[in-house]
Amino acid sequence: MIQDIAPHVFHNEYTPRPIAELDAVVCFDGSQILMDIGSGEDHAVFPQLNDFTPEDQKRIKEYDRLQYLFSIDEMGFFLVSKDCISTPGETLQFLHIQKVRQQSENRIGHAMMVSHHLNTWMTNHQFCGRCGSPTVPHDKERAMYCSHCKNIVYPTISPAVAVAVVDPKTDRILLAKGLGEFRKFALIAGFVEIGETIEDCVRREVMEEVGLKVGKLHYFKSQPWGLTGIEMMGFYAELDGDDKVTIQETELAEARWFHRHELTEESTMSLSFTLIDTFRRGEYVDWLK
Ligand SMILES: [Zn+2]
Repeated sequence: MIQDIAPHVFHNEYTPRPIAELDAVVCFDGSQILMDIGSGEDHAVFPQLNDFTPEDQKRIKEYDRLQYLFSIDEMGFFLVSKDCISTPGETLQFLHIQKVRQQSENRIGHAMMVSHHLNTWMTNHQFCGRCGSPTVPHDKERAMYCSHCKNIVYPTISPAVAVAVVDPKTDRILLAKGLGEFRKFALIAGFVEIGETIEDCVRREVMEEVGLKVGKLHYFKSQPWGLTGIEMMGFYAELDGDDKVTIQETELAEARWFHRHELTEESTMSLSFTLIDTFRRGEYVDWLK
């Protein structure tokens, strides 16, 4: 999955320090991010401070909201405003975040996703939700701080579930197609509601979206997904009773059962497709014993 970056190591401890020449410069412009495409757009990497002109380097270093985000191995990632960058050069270009996610190696894709999550959260919390005063990044924690009322706001992470409903007796999995642009067959998924357990969320989402009752749940793995600010938890859920599918028409275009042999190999970058592909390879059986 995209967060699996070994042998590289992701450090999310909050250890702010001044930016150094070989640190990564993270700069968003809406849904685009500045990347170094010197080795081709399909091999984009984050620009480092020393890739910029001396004037831009000076502006970046002196930017009063230059923000340390995290590190991968020894490389720090620092968020800057696009106002610090005079003109992207031949090798520094803004690329769409989805392109970077889909085409880069995991180390780059994961760093982009986490950066996007932090950038969105910081942008949305420039003012205190309690008293309305401007906030500043906290100097000791990854948080936004209001010096007027002392309010501290930590990064917002929304819990969500992805559910592979399976019928072990017939070796089938239920896949659904959403109404949006993303019209590929995928898993049932949804946000955890307030006051709800993860397990109840799994059962509710399956009942709401496809009208099926599930029995045993088998937790699989989790995945941070910074593009939407969520922490996704993946489950296999065994069908309990009738297999008749009734779709929620406001959410889904189609949903049906697939026999294992009908499935084709999937990219395992996302947790949802890793669940599907693990089922396709027959490895899910171990989970259901
Ligand atoms: Zn306040």
